[in-house]
Amino acid sequence: MRKPIIGGNWKMNRGVPTEAKEMLDKFIPLVKDMDTVDIVIGAPFTVLSTVHDLIKATNIKLSAQNMHFEENGAYTGEIAANFLKSIGCEYIILGHSERRDLFHETDDFINKKLKKALSVGLNPIVCIGEHLEEREAGKTKEIIQNQLNNTFKDLSKDEMLKTVIAYEPIWAIGTGKTATPKQAEEIHAFIRGLLANKYDLDTASKVRIQYGGSVNPANAEDLFKQQNIDGGLVGGASLQADSLSEIVKAADKTIK
Ligand code: PEP
Repeated sequence: MRKPIIGGNWKMNRGVPTEAKEMLDKFIPLVKDMDTVDIVIGAPFTVLSTVHDLIKATNIKLSAQNMHFEENGAYTGEIAANFLKSIGCEYIILGHSERRDLFHETDDFINKKLKKALSVGLNPIVCIGEHLEEREAGKTKEIIQNQLNNTFKDLSKDEMLKTVIAYEPIWAIGTGKTATPKQAEEIHAFIRGLLANKYDLDTASKVRIQYGGSVNPANAEDLFKQQNIDGGLVGGASLQADSLSEIVKAADKTIK
């Protein structure tokens, strides 16, 4: 059985300590007994310590949204994996399509970060997904297969088991256009099949694959009910305590 995981990706929002506190003061009591679901908040760097202090005695885990693969050195503006670990981060979101598209991150670059994150004991949530033109050209599976081969290159079975995959069709991110449960399940099942080929059936059956792309309280349950969907990575709807807690509850309801 795979434990569902709900990640709230705040992106460049809630980055002022009072804003983060206001959201979490409402959210924490709403999800306090939900131990059946892993709940992760991906906060901006400026509030990681604030969020850590607020959630440290709760069932919620802390994530950052980016890191560099080097340990230290002349990388102005960058943050190393061990810095994040040292302030209580347990997860790291890598390869988000906004990082890939706006900041030109490649599969190879993300692969280096992924290996570094694993080496310091951060649990990576790694995003993959196709653009609208790629879907319309019938290339979704090809794109996903290439991203999986390259982003997860040379990952051992144990490392793969510690990694969460977030399938996020880029045309569904922040657009209000969700993939249908059937469209999402088709790709999740495809990803699991690729993992079975690369590793084995047992490993493939244990890796968690989240769906991301305009998840909200109204569509979460139908998505999470699908056999190969293990929760969601949530952007817009993670900014409000009510909507994020409803999504966590949908994950709890659909435990398989
Ligand atoms: C995301 O940022 O990963 C995301 C899926 O955003 P949204 O839920 O707003 O589409």
